[in-house]
Amino acid sequence: MERADLVIEHGHVITLDAEGRRIPDGTIAVREGRVIAVAPWAETRGRFSAGRVIDASGKYVFPGLINTHIHSFQTLLKGLGRDEPLLDWLAASIRPVAPMLDEEATYLGAAVACIESIRSGATTVVDYNYAHPRPGLQDVVIKAFADVGVRGVHARSFSDRVFGEGAGPLVQPPEVFLADIDRLAAKYGGDDMVDIWMGPSALWNMTEAGLKETAEFAADRGLPVTMHIDETGVDDEDSLARFGRKALPYLADIGLLNERFLAVHCVHLDADDIEVLRGSGAKVSHNPASNMILGSGVAPVDVLLEAGVTVSLGTDGAASNDSQDMLETMKLTALLQKVTRRDPGVVGAEQVVHMATLGGARALGKEGLIGSLEVGKAADLFVYDPLRAKSSPLHDPVAALVYSSGESNICTTVVAGRVVLEDGVVKGVDEADILRRAQRKATDLVRRSPGRPRSAA
Ligand SMILES: [Zn+2]
Repeated sequence: MERADLVIEHGHVITLDAEGRRIPDGTIAVREGRVIAVAPWAETRGRFSAGRVIDASGKYVFPGLINTHIHSFQTLLKGLGRDEPLLDWLAASIRPVAPMLDEEATYLGAAVACIESIRSGATTVVDYNYAHPRPGLQDVVIKAFADVGVRGVHARSFSDRVFGEGAGPLVQPPEVFLADIDRLAAKYGGDDMVDIWMGPSALWNMTEAGLKETAEFAADRGLPVTMHIDETGVDDEDSLARFGRKALPYLADIGLLNERFLAVHCVHLDADDIEVLRGSGAKVSHNPASNMILGSGVAPVDVLLEAGVTVSLGTDGAASNDSQDMLETMKLTALLQKVTRRDPGVVGAEQVVHMATLGGARALGKEGLIGSLEVGKAADLFVYDPLRAKSSPLHDPVAALVYSSGESNICTTVVAGRVVLEDGVVKGVDEADILRRAQRKATDLVRRSPGRPRSAA
């Protein structure tokens, strides 16, 4: 018999592999974090001696979802600055609080974000951390990834130009953030569960010299870059005023836009922008809840997909969502495109699930590791219990996942073969304790922040 660390058997497996295999009574065997078999149970019967067996009878097994844009500390800021447009919302919610963050607050914010992620089927997150003025806050986010057990990309964010009210404390000179990125890359280079990326915050928050240094540094180190792009019309206005070109063509000119670039939002695009994206090989993170809450507009997801651009899904930070729920994000993705085009045939459930899995994997350059359930790939998956009022009776598991699901459907989540959520219980941390401490810390932060963030109440 072959040794396996974990076997999940009798589940209905939705593999999302190239053939789109669905296995009604399937086995997934896992060894050392990787899938070693995905096959009908009848074919694997008696083949594995497993350290642990999960019986998924009556349930569905999907590849883990990939959330390509969060700001984990923003889970502390839910509901603040509500009903304001982007720059006013930044001044009302993020900017008064971000400079006050300490290690405990940053850790708790990240832990809550990771808990909600595994509870909504996400096994990988891209955390776009801010240019925290205090050193060491990047490291506690990575600790939260490891404690809760999510696969993480940590995009070390930065800005070197003051733009708008309250931005001053978050600005750093390039030599400071570049040195910190080198430090992080050296410290976590051997960790399979986390990647370090660069995160210039937005074109309007960067000097020309800072943008060019970022492009050179990324090319030199081979580091991926993620950046907010064309969330509103401000990127193009600012780029035209300073550089005489729109944002995307300018970034392509300076060599920042390439296949290792993940452009977040991409709401305000014209046909030329889409051609620039396609030609560069850059990927897109679509964040519908955030775009709707901030009234930013609707990203042309259908046109991007038709052009062959990789589109992945993100929640954005909880300050502009106000959650980290990838199930909700999938539903909003489909509905927003349909109502905008006045065409129910635009962006179907199957396409949305692909964006949330394989699209995310491609956006991260990790299509060989995650995004589908296949032999050799990581054992990143969730077990879906259909027997919940919201999803029952179920006829089509993919439609149910997109349109009729909530946290309670996600009973078990596995990341790199580690069971991080088991029958609804978070295994890596004491969830109730984290939630209580995060509430206390968030209330205290807001109370002590200069210029008190505005709540809608
Ligand atoms: Zn964002």
